[in-house]
Amino acid sequence: MLMKNRLTAYTKILCIIGHPITHSMSPLMHNIAIQDLDLDYVYIAFDVAPRNLKDAIKGLKALNVRGINVTIPYKEKVMPHLDRIDSLAEKIGAVNTIKLEGDLFLGKNTDAEGAIQALNDAGINLSGKDVLMIGSGGAAKAISYAIIQKVNKLTILNKTEQNAVNFANKLKKDFNALIEARKLNQKVIGIEIETADILINATPVGMYPYINDSLVSKEMLHKDIFVFDLIYNPLETRLIKDAKEVGCKTLNGLDMLVNQGALAFKWWTDTTPNKDLMKKKIIENLVHKKC
Ligand code: NAP
Repeated sequence: MLMKNRLTAYTKILCIIGHPITHSMSPLMHNIAIQDLDLDYVYIAFDVAPRNLKDAIKGLKALNVRGINVTIPYKEKVMPHLDRIDSLAEKIGAVNTIKLEGDLFLGKNTDAEGAIQALNDAGINLSGKDVLMIGSGGAAKAISYAIIQKVNKLTILNKTEQNAVNFANKLKKDFNALIEARKLNQKVIGIEIETADILINATPVGMYPYINDSLVSKEMLHKDIFVFDLIYNPLETRLIKDAKEVGCKTLNGLDMLVNQGALAFKWWTDTTPNKDLMKKKIIENLVHKKC
């Protein structure tokens, strides 16, 4: 049974910062986990305007805030304001979780591990696979670092070609893998998808309220490709719906979201949260539950 969350002068604070922030599911999933474990924590959301980011980080430390999640648009911008960043987050170039240790703010990236756990739980063996990644933003970078040592080939397609090329060049310096970067367009998707084993949508295309949008048409999909769409609102994007109709195995972004949150929670509180409960809470509160 869930215990009542009592807020007292002992209560430790966790939070998320972003801009905007009202769409975030993190307060819901973390507070339900806190209540479930009867921990003396509370998790709140702060909408931080870009001009205030540096002061906000300073203020959060001064107020002894124990843990912070960072979301769009600050996963990169927050990095210069931290005391230490772990090597994976440094390489990815994005921090999504901060922990106060003593008087130091430590940064890491739990998106990468969260995605890998989600793929493992979905029974996906990455070894030797050809992966087609659409997008080369923070999430695409985190997943690329997480999978690059296992896969045979990673092809990154991006709207702004240079962003994909820059990232691919960085990856090539660190790993001796087959990595290609190309400009995203329908013709290139059509060519690359034919030989791909796994397709990952790491763009916001298809996200609520634009639920009928998809960068990959149904005709391009083939039943042997596994489709991972990082979007979780809606749970079934147009891409996922089309892929299911073609007979593909699919995965939405919900498990990755819960996993990255659970990893942060464990780091902050040294306690393992109930992921099923966190997931249920998110599903109950999604604006758009099904296409
Ligand atoms: P980001 O850093 O802002 O990157 C966005 C990426 O999407 C960029 O590569 C951008 O291309 C591309 N893009 C944006 N609009 C596009 C359009 N109309 N057509 C084609 N490409 C477009 O964002 P992010 O943090 O990587 O997030 C990407 C997606 O993953 C979002 O939907 C987000 O909700 C989801 N996500 C899910 C989780 C999870 O836990 N499930 C975690 C993180 C992110 P350019 O470089 O050309 O701008």
